[in-house]
This record gives sequence, structure tokens and C-alpha cells, in this order.
Amino acid sequence: MHIHNLSQQNSVLNTFISEIRDVTIQKDQMRFRRNIERIGEVLGYELSKSLHYKTSVITTPLSDCRMRVIDNDIVLCSILRAGIPLHNGLLNYFDMAENAFISAYRHHPDSSDNFEIIVEYLACPDLKNKTLILADPMLATGRSMVTAFEALKPFGTPKDIHLVSTIGAQEGVDYVEEYFDKHTHLWIAAIDETLNEKGYIVPGLGDAGDLSFGDKLQH
Ligand code: URA
Repeated sequence: MHIHNLSQQNSVLNTFISEIRDVTIQKDQMRFRRNIERIGEVLGYELSKSLHYKTSVITTPLSDCRMRVIDNDIVLCSILRAGIPLHNGLLNYFDMAENAFISAYRHHPDSSDNFEIIVEYLACPDLKNKTLILADPMLATGRSMVTAFEALKPFGTPKDIHLVSTIGAQEGVDYVEEYFDKHTHLWIAAIDETLNEKGYIVPGLGDAGDLSFGDKLQH
């Protein structure tokens, strides 16, 4: 797998990541969502450099000019609900993309910290020969990403696959690297050391869904 860990370079992206981690700044839900969206925009821009391009003739008010424009049929798939701001950021740049949505949540069958990933909702266009961008803001265990991809399989085989995430744990990165084809790209803004016993990334940022949209009753 091609792993693009963008925190390895100094850029404004690290400011956005610092802000989503910061407990004080996190109190502003709109800013949290907007920062995730901005991270989606930066990751989308970086990802765009690895897409295919074709020449298109554009007519300006003064003359024609030849421009190199994206030639991929993109399907942007996000995992609900935490994925919505990241999806919006990617869609700001790939506004021609088709869209897929999938719900995945952690079901705890007993009082232990064990959980299984349940997929309940899926809306997806044809994926055959398309470029699939699969976005999940927190790549913790990697199981949501893999479960989502398994659920997408009946919709056709994509030509290429790009995984997009804001913060990952090394364990989750290793898990998706083991599962996905070696040509798959992972675009990620930071990779943290560990997961805690509840499967949260440490230092991470907490629960991205709750920080974007408020607390829920289920845990
Ligand atoms: N989902 C989150 O929102 N945060 C984590 O740390 C792990 C999964």
C-alpha cells in the first residue's frame, strides 16, 4: 500500500489537526466540523496529484486553451455519521464525483470492550472501473474501513482505491495495509501510536462523531 502520511511535512494541515485535537477548541462544534472539512480539502488536493489527467480544450473570452483536467470517474464513499464533514471537504474539490454512503457503528454485545461493526444503511452507485475514494475520519482498528469495503463489493470492482482519513492509529494502518491490494493509496493527516482498551486512538481527539454532531445515547 502507498501510505501518504502528510503530517511528516510542515504545512497548514498540521494546524488544522492541532485544532481538532485541542479540548478547548473542540467546544466549538462548527469549527471542529469546518476543520475536518478543511483537512478533507487538503487530502483531496494531495490525492488529486495521483489521478489520471486528459487534455481538454477550454474556451475563454479571448481564445481557446488546452488544459489538463481529471479523467477519473470518482465515487466518493463515506462512513456515517462522523464521515460527513470529511465527505464535504472532499466533495468541495471533486465536485463531479458520484457519492456513496454507508453506516457503520460499533455494537457491544456484552459489557466488555469487545465490539462488532454493524452496517445498516448503504446507498452506492455502480463502482465498476471507477476510482473509489473511501473516507473514514478516524482509522482506529481499521475494521470499519474493511467492513465498509466488503459491503461495497456487490456494487462492482473499482479500477483504483484511495483511502482517506484524518487521524489513524498505527494498528489500524497496519490492518488496512494487510487487507487492501498493494496498489491502494492511503492519504492520512496523522498517525498516532496507540489505541486504548475501548478502541479509541491515543492521543487522537476523542469521538469524532460526537464532536461534530453532539452526544448520542448509544455507546
Ligand atoms: N472513532 C473516533 O471517533 N475516535 C477514535 O479515536 C476511534 C474511533
